[in-house]
Amino acid sequence: AARGEVILSARGLTKEFFGFKAVSNVDLDVRSGTIHALIGPNGAGKTTVFNLLTKFFAPTAGTITFDGRDITRTGPAEVARLGLVRSFQISAVFPHLTVLDNVRVALQRPANLATQFWRSNRLLDRLDARAMELIEAVNLADSAHLQAVELSYGRKRALEIATTLALDPPVMLFDEPMAGMGAEDIGRISALIRRIGEGRTILMVEHNLSVVADLCDEVTVLARGEILSQGSYATVSADPRVKEAYLGS
Ligand code: ADP
Repeated sequence: AARGEVILSARGLTKEFFGFKAVSNVDLDVRSGTIHALIGPNGAGKTTVFNLLTKFFAPTAGTITFDGRDITRTGPAEVARLGLVRSFQISAVFPHLTVLDNVRVALQRPANLATQFWRSNRLLDRLDARAMELIEAVNLADSAHLQAVELSYGRKRALEIATTLALDPPVMLFDEPMAGMGAEDIGRISALIRRIGEGRTILMVEHNLSVVADLCDEVTVLARGEILSQGSYATVSADPRVKEAYLGS
């Protein structure tokens, strides 16, 4: 999809668990090239929406479209292959491999090896060069030869982002990327997400509202499974329904 066009959308998205509507009739449009936040009080349905979009859950009702294709009945592996990839979930980090080896492994996933990129290049040289590019992109060059287990929490998450970037997905979903981080790591991961967002589309669940205000072009607010408000951060944060939902939680 061209920049600004809708690349990921849901219509009437609904998920019931034993008759309880965790997500109810959600319409969502994520535009190409934007950083879009999904926010809302605990239990609002944010994680369930992510699980629906990435096809870990089948919807009770509604449709999902990705890059012009109806993915309502597409499986999670196929959706990831199409380029809608969730970070911090599919990116397995091996604790006793080095940063460099973790990224090498990610680059050697079958989905990557099948691409023209690898067929048209001498494999091992290109693999190492590409691994170092990704490590530099997430500011881990000085830690390339450390084991993942030796990294600080924020650096470990940066490594997870590098292993996700190895798939070169046009759309990345981040599930609370700043959870459990101190101010320094929040600054580091924010800067990284902003850079990744240049040329990509990002949908993120984030509790830290100053991060959302700083980073996101578009915000969707969920409460009790329904969309409460959508628009820029300035718009939604001025919406009395949003204030009420946060105060009431
Ligand atoms: P959020 O991510 O916004 O905190 P969730 O999507 O995790 O919200 O949950 C929304 C609601 O759906 C909550 O009330 C939660 O208890 C319920 N829920 C989520 N997953 C399940 C499940 N697998 N079975 C039953 N109820 C669930």
